[in-house]
Amino acid sequence: MNFLSDFLHQEVPKSGGNMPAYYRKALFISEVILLAYFVASIVLLFISTGIWLWPPVFITTVTVFCVMDMDHMSPRLNLALFAALICAWLTWFVHRFGWSAGSPNILVPVLAMAYFNIYEPPLGKIFYFLGLVAFRVLLFAYSLKHTPVGVLEHTDTLVLQIVNSVIPLLMLAIDFILFSSSIQASERELTINNQELHREAGTDPLTSLPNRRAMLDVIEQFLKENPNGQFSVAIADIDFFKKVNDTYGHNCGDYTLKELSALFMECAAEKYKVCRWGGEEFCFFLPGMNIDEAGREMTDLNIAVKKKTLCFDDVVFSITITIGVEENDYQSTMEQILDRADRKLYMGKVGGRDRVVI
Ligand code: GH3
Ligand code: MG
Ligand code: MG
Repeated sequence: MNFLSDFLHQEVPKSGGNMPAYYRKALFISEVILLAYFVASIVLLFISTGIWLWPPVFITTVTVFCVMDMDHMSPRLNLALFAALICAWLTWFVHRFGWSAGSPNILVPVLAMAYFNIYEPPLGKIFYFLGLVAFRVLLFAYSLKHTPVGVLEHTDTLVLQIVNSVIPLLMLAIDFILFSSSIQASERELTINNQELHREAGTDPLTSLPNRRAMLDVIEQFLKENPNGQFSVAIADIDFFKKVNDTYGHNCGDYTLKELSALFMECAAEKYKVCRWGGEEFCFFLPGMNIDEAGREMTDLNIAVKKKTLCFDDVVFSITITIGVEENDYQSTMEQILDRADRKLYMGKVGGRDRVVI
């Protein structure tokens, strides 16, 4: 019953604001259909009875005002007028021709419009529901006691019945198309924006590689799907990177990070994942690989880096990296496994750099 509580506690914007475009369109089309329905009915009744019936002409005139003045009226007022016109029409119709020729179905689109109106508070919506039910019951009770003023020909009643069935359903169909397409459009937009935000939050802006957070998500997802899955991790650090910055400038350092990242992505392909762990450190996640297989992949990577020629502002140079590799031992936490990979990396640095320690 959560939806009821959500319904009763919904926050409603202050009345008098702009109508959402989809709602305005739905209300406008509904009122134009209503107008066409009124005019057609008046003409039909004129042909049938031979006299102008002034109450419907008056109701139709107010409907024209309601449509034309829509932009200057608050959505709640316009809707209330729309409901009042329909009730007035039905009252007159049942009074004049009895219940069987009238169409209380036309009350249903009013309910739909009331419930999709973002400015209508929950109590207002409940009031619409109870009000329309009460109106329908009272009108029926009135029709039982009251003899219609005029009687329509059988064919006229038949035509009116058909029109009275088609019009409310047509209004509802159009309203639902507009409401659902608008809701879906905003949901699509929201989902795309969320995906974009999520992607940006997990991407390192300099290298466009996933960042540490995104990598930890990937590992967590893998462990969720493969609780006893084999995998290895590796941490790589650029050797003497400070020298690159100090000798050729910070921009050259940035360029180096970007070039290496592109190389890492190329080598990783679909085999493993790479992320910028921080600074000039990178982390690799190698699913399904034991330490020997991961070691071979990392050795290939180490060689690829060494072979890569970097050119920045006429300066040609190359660099090396040191990598520590560790595998899942099915006992340690992810933090402990990464920590051991980091310690191996440190050993590689102490041992002379440009190597893979497994
Ligand atoms: P080692 O072989 O021991 O790793 O030596 P190193 O010089 O690579 O290590 P150190 O930790 O002394 O220096 C790392 C440098 O990386 C220092 C820091 O300014 C630089 N650095 C970190 N992030 C960035 C970055 O985004 N851009 C640039 N240009 N430099 C960065
Ligand atoms: Mg470092
Ligand atoms: Mg370094």
